[in-house]
Amino acid sequence: MSVFAERRARLRALLAEGELSALVVSHLPNVRYLTGYIGSNAVAVIGPDGERVLTDSRYAVSAREQVDDEVDVVIGPGDLTADLARAVAAIAPGGRVGLEAAYTSMARGAQLTARIAEADAGIEVTPEVGRVEGLRLIKDEDEIGAIVRAADMVDVALADVLAEGLIGRAERDVAFALQAGLFRIGAEGPSFEIIVAAGPNGAKPHAVPGSRVIGEGELVVIDLGAIADGYCSDMTRTVPTGQLPEALARAYDVCAQAQRAALDAVHPGVTCAELDAVARDLIGAAGLGDAFGHGLGHGVGLEIHEAPRVSREGTETLRPGMVVTIEPGIYLEGLGGVRIEDLVVVTDDGARVLSHSPKAAISSTTV
Ligand code: ZN
Ligand code: ZN
Repeated sequence: MSVFAERRARLRALLAEGELSALVVSHLPNVRYLTGYIGSNAVAVIGPDGERVLTDSRYAVSAREQVDDEVDVVIGPGDLTADLARAVAAIAPGGRVGLEAAYTSMARGAQLTARIAEADAGIEVTPEVGRVEGLRLIKDEDEIGAIVRAADMVDVALADVLAEGLIGRAERDVAFALQAGLFRIGAEGPSFEIIVAAGPNGAKPHAVPGSRVIGEGELVVIDLGAIADGYCSDMTRTVPTGQLPEALARAYDVCAQAQRAALDAVHPGVTCAELDAVARDLIGAAGLGDAFGHGLGHGVGLEIHEAPRVSREGTETLRPGMVVTIEPGIYLEGLGGVRIEDLVVVTDDGARVLSHSPKAAISSTTV
């Protein structure tokens, strides 16, 4: 049985528990996860009595190559609605069919429901959330292998760019060099828009690289990820360019300590909220709690941000095979910011850190 067939078997078991006759899978990373399809326009219908991938003629050849033999590939017009209604009526007559509510607009949901009703097959349509995402939480060895390759690419690209020095270069030039480096070493692309934020720009967690020239005595936040075999990596390093103002040096030290403590706390059985609190409490105790607004991290896989959420609201419990980031940040408006992010796999007895780029050692006098 292929890895995709195994995943669909697990999904079908979940559908049976939820008394669903089929799930309409609209979210492309979920379609890929379940069937192998790689492209920009497809919907899968998965049920015990049939499995189909619907796509359009642009993907006729590649879809047949990529998708398992057990799954019927249907090539139709670009708008898949009519084929989808037919597929649902054929696979789940008289049943309950789930739509992925998080990825189906209200307009599309209404249109689909109407088309399915027209088919007159006695089908009840119901919103569903998180079925496939729940399966994707735990990565298998091949998935972890791809993520490791993507993480290694980021280490190489960053080292190459840092070797050329940062001072005197525009943020945008550094971002471009990082992106070129990722492609050069075989990445399918960056896994998100690379962030290079120097000086006061570093205080904006999701700053866009601009024309600002990196100066001396600044912190430069560099956040980048690669895609390898469809899987993402994610890492941030904050690089000092010389002697820092005391407030920034202290922020760096506090952030580094919080990141280290959170890494050490990664262990099966810990909840995401507990893990978040390890870093947050430490930063709070240093009087910088207000400067750490975002969550500690997120899951990474086929998507750069996926379950579980590692934040104050994170209800998930860590289990072996989960891949998450640990990325506390401290942002001081007008001055600069620091974020340190590693990608880790939860193992049977702790964590394996996949990010190997060195972290700056800064010692402030007043941690
Ligand atoms: Zn990142
Ligand atoms: Zn991240």
